[in-house]
Amino acid sequence: KAKSTLSGHHVYRSVDNRHGDVRLRTLQELRLALTEDQLILHYQPKINLTTGSVSGVEALVRWEHPDRGLLFPDQFLTLVEEAGLMHALTQEVLRKALDQSVLWAAQGRNLTVAVNLSASSLIDGDLPERVGTMLSARDLPATALMLEITEDFLMADRDRARDILTRLRASGIKISVDDFGTGYSSLAYLRDLPIDELKLDQSFVFPMADDARAAALVASTIDLAHGLGLKMVAEGVENSVAYDELVRYGCDFAQGYFMSRPISAAALDEWLTARLN
Ligand code: C2E
Ligand code: CA
Ligand code: CA
Ligand code: CA
Repeated sequence: KAKSTLSGHHVYRSVDNRHGDVRLRTLQELRLALTEDQLILHYQPKINLTTGSVSGVEALVRWEHPDRGLLFPDQFLTLVEEAGLMHALTQEVLRKALDQSVLWAAQGRNLTVAVNLSASSLIDGDLPERVGTMLSARDLPATALMLEITEDFLMADRDRARDILTRLRASGIKISVDDFGTGYSSLAYLRDLPIDELKLDQSFVFPMADDARAAALVASTIDLAHGLGLKMVAEGVENSVAYDELVRYGCDFAQGYFMSRPISAAALDEWLTARLN
């Protein structure tokens, strides 16, 4: 079908159309993923650095694609946003995380599950009520759930963000600011928001082990957070050097491959059991 007279422009358009077909197929697959229950959650333990115990887990979504295998968020979340399906995904993730939480409670495991909210969740003004209904339908206390928001959630529409966070927090749900340090908001701005903890982005934690100045920056950020009455979580802890330094600096919680990667609920169960023995 290619013509010898094709101009660069035509070539460009034909390439673009082919790309469009792929996107369309992926979009259809994405809708199927939601209706056919192909989205699953992996859980990464969050360690209390004061006691060494597991305080909770973060739920991270994966797509069990029928042909392509296990897909990670960076392979499909942008498309989810573009397709206007983020609301549906968030509902699905909340539902699955809270169903799992019921199972943990039945096993006597006291784990808080943290769910990530995208900035587009702000559109949903009923979020606090819906989350409240989901908790009470399962007889779960508000402390069973944490919500992680990013700075773009806060900056998109400040008044709306404040309103939604205030209502969530009034019901007892704790709020964490994810990827802290990568955005434009300052601690001075965050000081006035109803939040509980800051999650220091992994890009600050990775260089700690080899770079004294990076470590000093982390140490002083922890102190600033504490000065504002906020807890600090470090993510991306990949080795014992970073872990020990964070303990020394008084960091409250940590997550990272050094302790565990995000794993299935079944693998988490084994991991938790092995940890106790
Ligand atoms: P995030 O919320 O900042 O999650 C941390 C990411 O870092 C996760 O990647 C996790 O697997 C990874 N990670 C954890 N510890 C380490 C470590 O020690 N070293 C390294 N190199 N990486 C580590 P993942 O699971 O691929 O998720 C990527 C992002 O996708 C998340 O970043 C979050 O922004 C988003 N995401 C994941 N699940 C959901 C969801 O259910 N809803 C929404 N809206 N976003 C989600
Ligand atoms: Ca997160
Ligand atoms: Ca993060
Ligand atoms: Ca991130």
